[in-house]
Amino acid sequence: MHPFSFTKAPSTREALEAGRRGGRYIAGGTTLVDLMRETVERPETLVDISGLPLDEVTVTERGGLRIGALVTMSEAAAHRKVRTTYPVVSQALELSASAQLRNMATLGGNIMQRTRCTYFRDVTAVCNKREPGSGCAAREGYNRTHAILGTSEDCVATHPSDAAVAFAALDARVHLLGPDGARSVPFADFLLRPGSTPNREQALSKGELITAVEIPACPRPLKSGYLKVRDRQSYEFALTSAAVALHIRGGVIREAKVAAGGVGTVPWKLPAVERALIGERPSERLWARAAESAADGARPLEHNRFKVELLKRTVERQLRIVGESK
Ligand code: SF4
Repeated sequence: MHPFSFTKAPSTREALEAGRRGGRYIAGGTTLVDLMRETVERPETLVDISGLPLDEVTVTERGGLRIGALVTMSEAAAHRKVRTTYPVVSQALELSASAQLRNMATLGGNIMQRTRCTYFRDVTAVCNKREPGSGCAAREGYNRTHAILGTSEDCVATHPSDAAVAFAALDARVHLLGPDGARSVPFADFLLRPGSTPNREQALSKGELITAVEIPACPRPLKSGYLKVRDRQSYEFALTSAAVALHIRGGVIREAKVAAGGVGTVPWKLPAVERALIGERPSERLWARAAESAADGARPLEHNRFKVELLKRTVERQLRIVGESK
């Protein structure tokens, strides 16, 4: 591990000031400390923000839900309001990591976590995300777990967060605070596709801090849930996943929100699937027909061709589970 200085921010103002000077924010530390041990990350200054007042879940004036960036994954998953109004978020969180990690890791850190591409974490391998311009070992290497959607010549790594898939499906917004003030961005614009700059992963300016994730109010009743397909049943990242939320009234699907994980370089919203559902009556044929477009645009690699069919089946299964639940 490389030497670094550590400071605990006593206030948001002082945290932002330290961030402006180039300090790296840390809260639960469940990803960053690992990466520092492996010398993948070498920050010179860590700014501990765990004491800032960003740890509440509140109902917004418009009836949405605002989850503070420092709410831990386990607190968010167990929160009554999250469980009852957006089970897809609770389920995505509970299917992530281990209980110990969920007790430490914060929501802000969860959406900021870096890829699990093994070459990214192996400092002897070439990796454009870690060292821009060095190459991508995964393209010609073993790429079974890598992305099939949103890839570029320079990077094919998946985004690992499950909660981010649920937030993308629900059209959440990320609230930010920086030296120039507060702003919020749609979740879909916050995490960046790799393009030719895979080292740039979020739409953050220097020193900006995530303060909260806001889920907009949805029409009621809303049925939702998260399905994660992985090589083993716990403590494993998704090969494919599907976050689904459906508003069904009078026997007709009025609103549909669907996103996939484990397949994209960012959480992958599925607007064609949503369009195929809206205005239709739930049926076996509908789930299969809507899921047919889930992998449109996929560019599989040598070892992950199976993800194309697996993604369609994952989406179809989760549409059925949510659409036919009581
Ligand atoms: Fe690095 Fe991305 Fe290639 Fe993995 S897929 S080796 S993270 S550039």
